[in-house]
Amino acid sequence: MADSQSNRPHTVPAVAYLRRSTSRQEKSLDDQRTEIVRYAALHGYRILRWYQDDGISGDATECRDGFLALHQAACNGRDFDVVLVWDQDRFGRFDSMEAGYWIHPLRKAGVRLESVTEGPINWDDFTGRVMYSLKQEGKYQFLRDLSRNTSRGQISNALEGRLCGQAAPYGYDRMVVDESGVHRQRIRAGEKSSKPRGWRTTLVPSDDPAKVATVKWLFETYADTDTGLRSLADQLNSRGVPGPTGGPWYAASIKAMLENQNYTGTFTWAKRREGKYFSVAAGQIRERDRREVTLSPSGKPHAVDNPREAWIVAENAHEALIDKALFERVQAKIQERRRGKPGAAYRSHTRRNADRYLLSGLVYCARCGCKMHGANSVAKGHSYPKYVCSTYCRSGKHNPHGCGCHGMHQGQLVDVLVRKLQETVLTTANLNRLRQALRKQIERRRTINSSGADALRRQLKHLNREIDHAAENFLRAPSEILDVVAEKLTALKRRREHLQKELRMSHPKFPSKDINAEIDAVVGHLWRLREDLSNAEPARCREVFRLLVSRIDLHFDKVQRGKRTECPFRSGEIYLQTSPDSIFGSVNRGDRI
Ligand SMILES: [Zn+2]
Repeated sequence: MADSQSNRPHTVPAVAYLRRSTSRQEKSLDDQRTEIVRYAALHGYRILRWYQDDGISGDATECRDGFLALHQAACNGRDFDVVLVWDQDRFGRFDSMEAGYWIHPLRKAGVRLESVTEGPINWDDFTGRVMYSLKQEGKYQFLRDLSRNTSRGQISNALEGRLCGQAAPYGYDRMVVDESGVHRQRIRAGEKSSKPRGWRTTLVPSDDPAKVATVKWLFETYADTDTGLRSLADQLNSRGVPGPTGGPWYAASIKAMLENQNYTGTFTWAKRREGKYFSVAAGQIRERDRREVTLSPSGKPHAVDNPREAWIVAENAHEALIDKALFERVQAKIQERRRGKPGAAYRSHTRRNADRYLLSGLVYCARCGCKMHGANSVAKGHSYPKYVCSTYCRSGKHNPHGCGCHGMHQGQLVDVLVRKLQETVLTTANLNRLRQALRKQIERRRTINSSGADALRRQLKHLNREIDHAAENFLRAPSEILDVVAEKLTALKRRREHLQKELRMSHPKFPSKDINAEIDAVVGHLWRLREDLSNAEPARCREVFRLLVSRIDLHFDKVQRGKRTECPFRSGEIYLQTSPDSIFGSVNRGDRI
């Protein structure tokens, strides 16, 4: 009806996409927005919606939720003709193969890309395509070159025992050294500095003698007396010695110190592979196996441990605080006191058993105000999920709040919760509110689901390919790395199960005209909540609790029985959701358990 040349403005429907990676030099989202609004007004575009990704790198496309949502909207019955961005590389830093994967569906749907800095980008025209690809490859190559150059500089630094941008361990300061080896500037913890090209940074003992003394005291006390890590932390805290970050001391940070070879004057580096494109192992830059790289939700690659022989180790790189004999004695004692696999208990409840804990994030210890986290309790060969005070777990019995071993089984908690919910929710007034809230939720979920399911299906397809690939590798792998491949394969399969589950859940169970039937079903479920919960998907149960409950505070008593301190449960309060949007209006604060 109208086009961008016409005199009537705001006639072509468009959406805008904003992105900023973590780099501080980039234009802020607000600046991008301002420029796009101005551009749209000038060229006659009406912006229907904004999509954005903040703090995510342009080459981590699968982590860019905003971009994926935009792509979905463009490919499934779009209501716009143009995507507006500030600059082409806001849209994505793809190589040309990946660019095709994302752009082809857009072109097929008749959606154009237009950037404030370069104007319309023409994918239909030969010159336009070549220009676009050249710029894309250039930008992609830039990231890779940057990564390789950074690694190269870091290796030569590390081989000489110089710092590669990391902070100094507690008890040391950083020292800027010029070309001729003269110490130029001391950088204390928390200070920032910049240095001329060619100057290096190394470690020197802190000019605060108390810190140096604390390091020596920790190593000597641990090696020569029967003192555990927690007790070391307690002693320092009771003496009022500030911890490495200014707060209290914790067993975990003391352990990391006692294992840090830097205190013997030996510099170690490249203990982990963490780059996206390249990694350093045994002083060599290696291209990273793309299949090994997994990304965090913000698009940063997860680090992988390097084997010991691949570390870069520079002996006598700086002044030692601890002699090697003492350090070795401490290592021997750490080994001796090690119980089971390090970190195994923690990992088991964070990763693999994440589904077991239905009330994660909702349960609080009333004494210290901290969250109680999920933990496993084993009795008679069965394991039961329970919640324990995180202050006690982190700092032991000498913690500043005086928390004891506070813990409560999930089963008991859920039973009480369900009873309370039934009593509170199943009044007529609340039932009506519940119906309204549910209707809103179901409608919202439907709009998300229709686009989300396609994205899930795509991810699943991709994952299936990866699993085939990994399975193939498994057959060919030399025996010494079979374990590693097997582990990866299991992880991939677990991820697939998870996706399949999500996909199953994302299907609307009833056609949309039956929304009332669905609501009735949910209300019916409330009556049978307890038995339904034991059959339902854990993720669904968690959703239900989160919808209804805002927090649960638990109080415990402390009883001395001989040498033993016991902490029986005394009472608790359930706080139901009271946001304006919620089911219960403003009633029900602190219903007692
Ligand atoms: Zn506590």
